[in-house]
Amino acid sequence: MLTFQTFSLGALQTNAYLVTDAERTGAVVIDPGTADPALLRRLEAFELKAILLTHAHFDHIGGVEKLRERFGCPVYLHSAEKDWLGDAAKNGSLHWPEATPPITGNPPDRLLLDGDELQLLGETFRVLHTPGHSPGSVGFLCGDLLFAGDALFRRSVGRTDLPGGSSDQLTKSIREKLYVLPEDVIVLPGHGPDTTIGEERRENPFVRA
Ligand SMILES: [Zn+2]
Ligand SMILES: [Zn+2]
Repeated sequence: MLTFQTFSLGALQTNAYLVTDAERTGAVVIDPGTADPALLRRLEAFELKAILLTHAHFDHIGGVEKLRERFGCPVYLHSAEKDWLGDAAKNGSLHWPEATPPITGNPPDRLLLDGDELQLLGETFRVLHTPGHSPGSVGFLCGDLLFAGDALFRRSVGRTDLPGGSSDQLTKSIREKLYVLPEDVIVLPGHGPDTTIGEERRENPFVRA
């Protein structure tokens, strides 16, 4: 049984999730948008096993290098964005000077593909490739928790006007990869409050079930 804590970080209030195991010894961080001092302090109590990235837009990766250096843990990212951590144009940080300095980090340590099953914290994190917001967007499904990145939000969906985005692809990803999950799966998005698959199937105005 995992527990998680949410940290909304940076200019775009991106949700970083600190996921910890039942014994509260190991941890995984999803989308550290900044090296937030409160998150770092919290992490000192755990062994950080991995940094999982739902995609490599700047608002999700600003804390990656500092955490990787400090805790020596591997960074996981979908192969379609394998060169984005080191490329400030691709990760968008070059174009948003009011929000972030340019971000150029090292490449990911592990590349993800659809259907991968990551064994972390004594649980299985299943990788669901959900392109559309960005080409390498993934969700991580662990039990009844879905860390959804910027694909699906409460009553909204991710923007598709950034490089590599596609609204047709996003709609298909949401219908075929997310709406097929059990109704009671809790959706933990990259921005804003959580929701459930059932609620979004019924209420989401942008992608109908
Ligand atoms: Zn994004
Ligand atoms: Zn985002």
